[in-house]
Amino acid sequence: MRDSWQKRIDRASELAARDEAVRPLLDAYGRLLVLQRDCYASLHAHSARLSGALERDLATVRACVPRILNEIARTGPPRLAEQARQMIDGGESAIDSMLLMGWRTPSDEHFFAKAVLQSYANCLATDGLHPIDRDLPRADNVCPFCGGAPQVSILHHAADTDGGGRELLCATCLTTWPFRRLLCARCGEEDERQLGYFHSPAYDHLRVDACDTCKHYLKSVDLTRLGRAVPIVDEVAGAPLDLWARERGYEKIELNLLGL
Ligand SMILES: [Zn+2]
Ligand SMILES: [Zn+2]
Repeated sequence: MRDSWQKRIDRASELAARDEAVRPLLDAYGRLLVLQRDCYASLHAHSARLSGALERDLATVRACVPRILNEIARTGPPRLAEQARQMIDGGESAIDSMLLMGWRTPSDEHFFAKAVLQSYANCLATDGLHPIDRDLPRADNVCPFCGGAPQVSILHHAADTDGGGRELLCATCLTTWPFRRLLCARCGEEDERQLGYFHSPAYDHLRVDACDTCKHYLKSVDLTRLGRAVPIVDEVAGAPLDLWARERGYEKIELNLLGL
């Protein structure tokens, strides 16, 4: 899984080099991914201490946080840098409550919690340690491992399905689970007339999957068009499609780490 983090970092730098318009975004994401990779590596190295209950794992997880806070305080956008400084001033108790809140009542607007918990939950997934104290509702459209919302949908060739398979990628633990192609990942709408798939020639392997019933969307990364894509990173690189969807009144199911 450490390799998966490195693959994400490499893909962010590849896409940053290629596309000037989204370069600042991908450079920022690349720096974050390095912090997340190192957080993952340090958690994985101490995985014998992890239980899957964040409350019990706090001492181990918290150790990752100061470096992330310091880095964002130094290089992040003003609003996040200020939040980072406040959390540094708040000490361990501010960090612990941020982590526990992000774990139990997740919000895609809690940047620091989401950044750290992706590494933590991904480490639990690698080590097969099921989250114990994350009692989120279970449903087909949330991650079967941790209960997280989907960040991005992935289209791929699948021998056993007509028209190929689809998976959703969890915004928290970054694992995937199978999901029907013609189905809204937010409200479960399956009437094709309510489901729109929008594609721009500028992003051949990306599309916006929007639902007119609940007015939500997420992006799909089509691996049958570009097998080397790294879905969570290519999703960020397709930021102009988020603007496009938002202008048309659709709300994203789950904002990505960059807040888009
Ligand atoms: Zn998950
Ligand atoms: Zn819907």
